[in-house]
Amino acid sequence: MDLHLANKVIVVTGGASGIGEAIVRGAAQEGAIPVIVNRRLERGEKLVAELKQAGYQCLFVQADLSEIDQCQRAVQETVDQLGRLDVLVNNAGINDGVGLESGFPEAFMQSLQNNLQHYYSLAHYALPYLKKARGNIINISSKTAVTGQGGTSAYVAAKGAQLALTREWATELLPHGIRVNAVLPAEVLTPMYETWLNSLANPNEKKAQIEQRIPLDQRMTTAQEIADTVLFLASDRSSHTTGQLLFPDGGYTHLDRAIHS
Ligand code: NAP
Repeated sequence: MDLHLANKVIVVTGGASGIGEAIVRGAAQEGAIPVIVNRRLERGEKLVAELKQAGYQCLFVQADLSEIDQCQRAVQETVDQLGRLDVLVNNAGINDGVGLESGFPEAFMQSLQNNLQHYYSLAHYALPYLKKARGNIINISSKTAVTGQGGTSAYVAAKGAQLALTREWATELLPHGIRVNAVLPAEVLTPMYETWLNSLANPNEKKAQIEQRIPLDQRMTTAQEIADTVLFLASDRSSHTTGQLLFPDGGYTHLDRAIHS
């Protein structure tokens, strides 16, 4: 299926690692122009060099999105250099374990700044260009927004708010034809996920345990599978889909797991 994404400018926050990187690679392969917005310089530069070497068009903007002015700059640099902005994929985030008992309120607020503020700021600054392009927004949330995880109040608050904002923006932006959807990954083996696994006493055992509970194929979702869902939503092949929460997770969040026990 041709997704009709050729030459569309797709901004992907956290685009130099894990799920974001898979979205960037997929976008490039579809002929779109991915913009990698990422904090760490080396990762972004390496990916952009590799993509350019392979003949793809792309842009890297280094930014720490916990700073509002850097969100604004990321949008500005995109438009200055590429002249348009068609799709915003809000993806950057970190499960930072600010739990109810041990986490001070200051840490809670800082985590919201790291995980939630930039979803709003980027959408705010990108809006004039999204209106021009009749573009769309995809918010990467997490299944923890609907199941909880324990020990990570701030991250889960941010992920839940991203779902509410998806519905709020989808409603507000109807008159402009701008679609807004959310994707909720569950278990995807990315650098962030590996860091969490390695913080446990028996990472391999835990991973096997989790995989056993994933209804479809007893395996983790790949970053590529998340990216494919995101690119479908980004494309006009999903032209009547807005305000939706998609769970590409092998049935992990919703299906009856007792069948496997
Ligand atoms: P990842 O591999 O750690 O990638 C996250 C990327 O975001 C990193 O490149 C990181 O850059 C960047 N980033 C984080 N905070 C940033 C900031 N303030 N400014 C700029 N860049 C920032 O994580 P991932 O697993 O792919 O996660 C991507 C998204 O999926 C997140 O929103 C996460 O909550 C969600 N998710 C993932 C899973 C999963 O199983 N992996 C499950 C549910 C939801 P640096 O490396 O420079 O910090």
